[in-house]
Amino acid sequence: MAIYEMHKADKAGTVFTTKDTLYTKEYAEQHMPMYLEGHLIENENGKIRRRYRLHSDKPFTIEAALALDINCPECNTRLKQIGRCLNTHDLGLYKCPACDKN
Ligand SMILES: [Zn+2]
Repeated sequence: MAIYEMHKADKAGTVFTTKDTLYTKEYAEQHMPMYLEGHLIENENGKIRRRYRLHSDKPFTIEAALALDINCPECNTRLKQIGRCLNTHDLGLYKCPACDKN
């Protein structure tokens, strides 16, 4: 599964652009304070869709995680959160509304 690096795109540090990498999850966990992990799922119509799980080194509350705006690594559209935080490090699950239309 793919690892996406995140870059702060505003002064407040709540908007992020993302970019795909060739890093492994092990590398990401050791060296990246925040990253997205891509997952492929099959939707109800049998189409393969990409989902993104946000991971953070630093513990986040659910409220703080909800305040983050993350852009799609493929098309830079704002990702939409579709799944809740699993714990304070494995945060929301996201999808791209634009990529999902194809
Ligand atoms: Zn997209």
